[in-house]
Amino acid sequence: MLIRIAGLVSESYVDGDGIRFAIFMQGCLRRCEGCHNPETHALDGGRLVDTAKIIAKIKKNPLLDGITLTGGEPLLQIDAANEIACAAKSFGLSVWCYTGYNFEELPHDAEPLLENIDVLIDGAFIERLRDLDLQFRGSRNQRIIDIKKTREQNKIVLWSEIGG
Ligand code: SF4
Repeated sequence: MLIRIAGLVSESYVDGDGIRFAIFMQGCLRRCEGCHNPETHALDGGRLVDTAKIIAKIKKNPLLDGITLTGGEPLLQIDAANEIACAAKSFGLSVWCYTGYNFEELPHDAEPLLENIDVLIDGAFIERLRDLDLQFRGSRNQRIIDIKKTREQNKIVLWSEIGG
């Protein structure tokens, strides 16, 4: 399957917990003021890559703790994102995903992807709520959500490093 990406970072220390393979997916329609990655907005920008190539790169690095789907808006390419997420889970890796959607307004077709996500950082970047002290997110409205616990308990449970 083809995926349109803005770029890959094979060992990231800033896109989630531990050492992560970060996939910057191309395409976002939100245009948040102050967005740090405006080059990821164009739906026809970036480049097309075979998901199998990305999965092979992930598989061959034994140092990884997980992968992170970011962008851009990963939910604009749910099937491709899910193929990579599913493979990462089969390698024993955790899956983090950023989205401009709030958890409560996720599209229904995100459900299969959610099953393979451990942590979702939700919500669009809001410049007036920007806070440089926040870990793994840009503005205070964004939440780092433990998806497994949230689904089990049927209420938002935030990720915590201890036991997270
Ligand atoms: S959702 Fe993310 S990538 Fe899209 S415009 Fe907002 S900050 Fe930028």
